[in-house]
Amino acid sequence: MDQWLPDIVAVMVSVSVEGPYSYRVPPGMQVVRGSIVAVPLVGRLTLGVVWGVPKDNTAHNRLKDIEQVYDTPPLSDELLRTVDWVSRYTLAPPGLVLRSVLRSSEALEPERQVMAYRKTGHEPERMTPARYRVLDTVADGLAWAKSAIVGASGVSASVVEGLERAGALERLEIPAPPIALKPDPEAAVPTLSAEQATALSQIRELDVRKFGVALLDGVTGGGKTEVFFEAVADTLRAGRQALIILPEIALTHTFIDRFARRFGTRPAEWHSDMTPSQRSRTWRGITNGEIRAVVGARSALFLPFHELGLIVLDEEHDGAFKQNDGVNYHARDMAVVRAKFAEARVILSSATPSVESRNNANAGRYKHVLLTSRFADAGMPDITALDMREEPPEKGTWIAPRLAREVFATLDRGEQALLFLNRRGYAPLTLCRACGHQYQCPDCSAWLVEHRFRGVLMCHHCGHEQKRPKICSACGVEDSLIPIGPGIERIAEEVAVRFPDARTVILSSDMGSNSQLRDRFSEIEKGEYDLVIGTQLVAKGHHFEKLTLVGVLDADLGLAHGDPRAAEKTFQILTQVTGRAGRAAKAGRAFLQTYHPDHPVMQAMVKQDREAFYAHELEVREAGGLPPYGRLAALIVSANEHDDAMGFARTLLSAAPQANGLRLFGPADAPVAMVRGRHRVRLLAQSPKDFDLSGYVRFWLNSAERVKGNLRVQVDIDPMSFY
Ligand SMILES: [Zn+2]
Ligand SMILES: [Zn+2]
Repeated sequence: MDQWLPDIVAVMVSVSVEGPYSYRVPPGMQVVRGSIVAVPLVGRLTLGVVWGVPKDNTAHNRLKDIEQVYDTPPLSDELLRTVDWVSRYTLAPPGLVLRSVLRSSEALEPERQVMAYRKTGHEPERMTPARYRVLDTVADGLAWAKSAIVGASGVSASVVEGLERAGALERLEIPAPPIALKPDPEAAVPTLSAEQATALSQIRELDVRKFGVALLDGVTGGGKTEVFFEAVADTLRAGRQALIILPEIALTHTFIDRFARRFGTRPAEWHSDMTPSQRSRTWRGITNGEIRAVVGARSALFLPFHELGLIVLDEEHDGAFKQNDGVNYHARDMAVVRAKFAEARVILSSATPSVESRNNANAGRYKHVLLTSRFADAGMPDITALDMREEPPEKGTWIAPRLAREVFATLDRGEQALLFLNRRGYAPLTLCRACGHQYQCPDCSAWLVEHRFRGVLMCHHCGHEQKRPKICSACGVEDSLIPIGPGIERIAEEVAVRFPDARTVILSSDMGSNSQLRDRFSEIEKGEYDLVIGTQLVAKGHHFEKLTLVGVLDADLGLAHGDPRAAEKTFQILTQVTGRAGRAAKAGRAFLQTYHPDHPVMQAMVKQDREAFYAHELEVREAGGLPPYGRLAALIVSANEHDDAMGFARTLLSAAPQANGLRLFGPADAPVAMVRGRHRVRLLAQSPKDFDLSGYVRFWLNSAERVKGNLRVQVDIDPMSFY
């Protein structure tokens, strides 16, 4: 490849096209596979990547020249192969997948210098206290960034500029400080427990220079992070780069702090809260090899590493790893794909692994590494199912009497309690007592959820909002609207009446910005609240040392959906949230309010029998031919008119090629039949495990009638949601 000096190359452009285009390499320009270039495309310059030799020999004289090669390392072969693979698997055009890699051209330009000042030794004639402070700051003779001088001396920028004019400071340009320092694997090597040490030695059986996957399967509070940090250390020692992917990076400041304590410096970060300049600098640092460790969101999977040696996915079961717009990929599965091409290791870490990963571990494809005891001698919480048929809450309330007594006792002991309900807002449904009118979103088939703090009714699908009316919009009767069912704001109202002296906080994703939420989390950690009311936001990754009681107000909530993963998702969230109790030295207790105490999920929870849950769930999946024993692909046909969507879905179905073992379901109106004014109809394809379902769906769509007008077909391979 290095000797390859072609005059015509295939360039993948970062727009939504099906394959690379041919371009001519002008004389004097040199490119290799992976070179990042700018090429003319329909009248403007577009970023692209040299993919290789063109497949077809288009007449040379009609080709356009590559405009520019960027002076940045060519993308690695493993990353290009990952892009091809993700495109083939998800049916997203490769140019669209490439856009996840090439985010901006700014990252391809040389690093900008920063303006700095150094003392000249010349004393200005007129001195002021502010000028003294500045000269004191720069007395070391080093070059100081302007902002650093301002910060250290507590003066305004004009003082610095004045000193420059007076000849006391000289201006110069210096390289910007690195966005992240090199983590030191020897900075704070921890003492692991015997069980953690065993887990680490199992992971170390995977060659640090070869592909291999470990499932780090351990109870909440069992110390998984310490173990995978040591695998990160091994990767750094081997001269390779490490990537840790988290589901909720914006809220996990404590994770970054832990990394810094272990490795002596903060990792580079990659998530949506970064400024464009931070992103560009991070991207550049990774491709230059200056950045050795990254902690990021799922999109970090497409960063331009050249020496990737380890990918850790923490909370690998988490639904946030599935992307559901643009390219429908699952970060867990694509991490394994990239690691395979990069000859890297993967550690999937979870207290409640996905059924897929457990099955891979059972089959020996992944190394199964177990951590079964909790840290610091804290036991597992004692879990009780509260049968709501036997012990119902009083009318108009949602907290059963026994749970309320437990909350009182907990608060009396000066400990914290958490009431969990995975439903934002005040009430999931508002109706008119006079005429029975139910308030629905005008653009979606969904009820409007009341958010009482803000006085609005809101659609959780499209974000539509309207003021909660005083007068029923259907019958005109005044003050006739009543809320049906609870959301966490309504629970807060009940809590305020029952536990008036408790310091209470509500936590859900709509309760403020990420930084406000981070503040709430640290206040809870410091014990500034007695009672926390929260949605699934509180279920993950936080250490609340004083929290000893968890009450799940509607443990059945996730089970109602027609979703093959409903039991798994419910088991995961219940395990995560009950795992918040008793993480320090005190034992914890958890209560599940349920109408189905005999459901296998509730039984597994109460008996703390994870193995029983996985065994039962795998049996159910096998019997139904569902993942991981079979494969699913969803086709969602949408249109402005219902008949158009349904009509096209029927046409698609009739065009479906026959295939052995393949079953098609539908078309049927989607459970949420309208979103943002578009009608949605679903088709579902189910196949055996070893069937190339992506290839089948591609062939099917190519052989069917083209979509036209406002019709759209979205393909979701391995769907995780079924709305
Ligand atoms: Zn009415
Ligand atoms: Zn809506």
